Amino acid sequence: MEKDIFCKIIDGEIPCYKIYEDQDVLAFLDISQVTKGHVLVVPKEHYETFLSTPQETMHKVMDIAQRIGQVEIKLLGAKGVNILTNCYEAAGQSVPHFHVHVIPRYEKRDGFILEMKDNSKGLNLPQLAEDIKNTL
Ligand code: AMP
Repeated sequence: MEKDIFCKIIDGEIPCYKIYEDQDVLAFLDISQVTKGHVLVVPKEHYETFLSTPQETMHKVMDIAQRIGQVEIKLLGAKGVNILTNCYEAAGQSVPHFHVHVIPRYEKRDGFILEMKDNSKGLNLPQLAEDIKNTL
């Protein structure tokens, strides 16, 4: 199977602007810089999405994402941070290697748009909650 682009970065075959590295985790600047300071945090071991990543590895990735978010506020003057991970194409995932976006936010119209519409009309919320709860 062909290596994904993040595996190539981890293996040093493609350059990146490195922010952090330890034996399990790598963090580097996202090439697109949706906003100034947009960082990706990835596990070095290959897992396709957040959903299939072992808990211990996922915790290590989230720990670094939290620290980078804190620095973005302190150093870059961001007013907020979006922590985002897309799972599968339907959710906007384009690189099939678990990664967390840490996106500093400066104002509402600053390059990152996330629209959450209210689509609750007509849904049976008690039943929906029960179904999800019983499958956890
Ligand atoms: P997603 O759409 O959630 O899978 O995000 C993939 C992200 O990877 C996008 O924001 C891209 O800009 C970023 N990306 C793709 N190739 C590179 C690269 N070589 N170095 C840094 N970021 C990259």
